[in-house]
Amino acid sequence: MQSDQTMNPFQMALANFEIAADTLGLDNNIRERIRLPERELIVNFPVKLRDGRIKVFTGYRVQHNTARGPAKGGLRYHPNVNLDEVRALASWMTWKNAVVGIPFGGGKGGVTCNPKEMTTEELQNLTRRFAQEISIMIGPERDIPAPDVYTNAQTMAWIMDTYSMARGYCVPGVVTGKPLSIGGSAGRNEATARGCVYTIAEAAKVKKMPLKNARIVVQGFGNAGSIAAKLLFDDHQSRIIAISDSRGAIFNSKGMNPHSVLLYKSQHGSVKGYPEAEEISPEELLTLECEVLIPAALENVITTENAGRLNAKIIAEAANGPTVPEADAILDERGIMVLPDILANAGGVTVSYFEWVQDNYSFFWKEHDINERLREVMVSAFKAVLETAKKYDVHMRRAAYVLAVDRVAEAIRVRGIYP
Ligand code: NAD
Repeated sequence: MQSDQTMNPFQMALANFEIAADTLGLDNNIRERIRLPERELIVNFPVKLRDGRIKVFTGYRVQHNTARGPAKGGLRYHPNVNLDEVRALASWMTWKNAVVGIPFGGGKGGVTCNPKEMTTEELQNLTRRFAQEISIMIGPERDIPAPDVYTNAQTMAWIMDTYSMARGYCVPGVVTGKPLSIGGSAGRNEATARGCVYTIAEAAKVKKMPLKNARIVVQGFGNAGSIAAKLLFDDHQSRIIAISDSRGAIFNSKGMNPHSVLLYKSQHGSVKGYPEAEEISPEELLTLECEVLIPAALENVITTENAGRLNAKIIAEAANGPTVPEADAILDERGIMVLPDILANAGGVTVSYFEWVQDNYSFFWKEHDINERLREVMVSAFKAVLETAKKYDVHMRRAAYVLAVDRVAEAIRVRGIYP
């Protein structure tokens, strides 16, 4: 449907918030304070390009809500970055952090640019100047950025260095998702997928559905999708029956070894053409009969048009915003359990929180301990969402929002108003 495709992400985020607020009977004063972001910074700053020209870029940092703790959320470099998108992503972070109960509020930032057309040196110049511009807002006790689309550990290293240079001492806790050599955390790279698989395992128990031999369909075979497939294959002996990436989709009813699909993708640039599978259309992949469907690529892929034809028992949203709000009711009616993005992919920010704690203590944990602590956080968040779903007789997404909004509202209520 047209409206599904064109819905702006901030409207989508607000729609979920308003429904949760209605379910909770939230009072209007608190609603007003949650609805709008607390702080928004727009910066226009010059960067010297390789040919000697100066180009002015626009960047943003938004703190949606800091009632529960410092703002936390990534930085995105993309031509489509704009204030509404950053606001939406910041509010998603508020809910995500509240659902998993980590002591952070929600923030997000970005620069409108095309990193694919920029050299490493230009990206470094852009990042350092942007870091300086937003340094009036960020800091380990105030607002802690992390990587998002087209930013990575190197980007975080430049920001950490720029911020530290201005202060005259090393401040590793100003960003997370850093390289291990400067205070990054073990297990961060796998954390999103690992957290997602922990929630899938809990959901499977509720559905009394063994994960051994369970048919798994994965849309998107990048960091989140490929690692989730590997963990399900290695740790649960699940059958990965279909995989897609931006170039195409493949299917084998007997299951595929995700390690060898990944090797094929690294050699050929895509999963398409993998010899031990047949090619299917990307739309067919979504409607395959399976136990678990993992959307791990883009926004707005499950719509009112296809929700009635999906054949999964569990949908685990590794991606952010893969389901349009109107499709939720259809999935719920059909008895499909949706593990919403703000729960299912919160493993990444949870290990970011662990990284920040380790940086602040200058004491680093072993990967095994990190994975165990992540498991505890994800399992307890899953149980809290499930209980909320039962209490209010709502589906899992609504329950996750109700839980998150309630936690944020309680923090606002108990803190009161200054002055
Ligand atoms: P990535 O860039 O590593 O992988 C994205 C994958 O999606 C690639 O394999 C790409 O080919 C594929 N893809 C792109 N267009 C597609 C299409 N039309 N159909 C099928 N596949 C397509 O990104 P990622 O880090 O894995 O992130 C994926 C999603 O997970 C995003 O929504 C992201 O916001 C979300 N997420 C990621 C993390 C994390 O820590 N990586 C954390 C939270 C949420």
